[in-house]
Amino acid sequence: VDLERIGVHESVERVFPPDELRSYLQDLPPAVDIVDDAAAADCDAVVTIAYREQFLACDWIHSIQAGVDRFPFGDLEDHGVVLTNSTGIHDRTIGETVAGYLLAFARRLHRHVANQQERSWNRPAWDEAFTLPGTTACVVGTGTLGKGVANVVGSLGVDIVGVRRSADPVPGFDEIYATEDLLEAVADADFVIVTVPLTDDTHHLVDETILETMREDAYLVNVARGAVVDQSALIDAIEHNVVAGAALDVFETEPLPEESPLWGMDEVIVTPHCGAFTRDYFRDAGDIVRENVERLESDEAVHNRVV
Ligand code: NAD
Repeated sequence: VDLERIGVHESVERVFPPDELRSYLQDLPPAVDIVDDAAAADCDAVVTIAYREQFLACDWIHSIQAGVDRFPFGDLEDHGVVLTNSTGIHDRTIGETVAGYLLAFARRLHRHVANQQERSWNRPAWDEAFTLPGTTACVVGTGTLGKGVANVVGSLGVDIVGVRRSADPVPGFDEIYATEDLLEAVADADFVIVTVPLTDDTHHLVDETILETMREDAYLVNVARGAVVDQSALIDAIEHNVVAGAALDVFETEPLPEESPLWGMDEVIVTPHCGAFTRDYFRDAGDIVRENVERLESDEAVHNRVV
């Protein structure tokens, strides 16, 4: 790959101003410009959140997200396009977001915020609030997100059980189950936290059976991708008190449609796919781009390669 021009695709504005990344990378040897779909085709590389067919004319696509389920791997391979992602940077942001959800449920903060909107001085019942030490979180996926969640939530006194494809131990996790034993892993958890990528294997991994196996007072947290959870089974489970509630950053359809019952449920926290947001995002993603520009110049294998 001979890099003369890198395009920052305008779609990254969903997460940060494109110009912040452009100026952060302007000391690199290749020229760095903000590009639309058409101009992207004239670049050797493009940094983006969205996928466009025009990118097939580039040698390298860098996704500013970790999840690359939107990219057509087969087409990229056919056109000899390298795809890299931004896994590795979301451990602390997602860890803190999940800690926030858990603290909200335990200390009832989501209800206080809802009541405040109504100017209602409304205390929870005596037995609603609890504290986190001694509770158990089952973290499904022990990659960057899973480890970040284990670290931050573990520091609040929560016991951390991990689920991964093999049952080999992972530092920071008190216990590990293999994915085939998911039912057993979720059965005793106060919180089930989904942190796996969306693949053919993980589509609707959390289904009616998993929800029925969970404790009635347990909460589901999804910070991965909407379709890893069967969303209508989840709505049913919450409506019928099969589980206590959920905190969701990702949905099967985004933006979450206005008519979704999830918006109105007392024990559901909805956040608009921004659990990894931070004012440092352009620097964190930019550092991966910089590292890979340097690797490509010295003919080394690129970091975070997916295709
Ligand atoms: P990662 O590659 O570091 O970790 C993913 C882990 O899941 C890996 O350890 C992998 O082995 C494991 N895994 C894959 N399939 C599995 C299966 N069937 N059973 C058990 N484990 C399995 O990726 P990451 O950075 O931790 O991100 C994970 C996913 O979270 C991304 O793909 C993305 O979809 C999502 N994500 C969401 C946000 C957000 O804003 N909410 C931010 C970052 C990532």
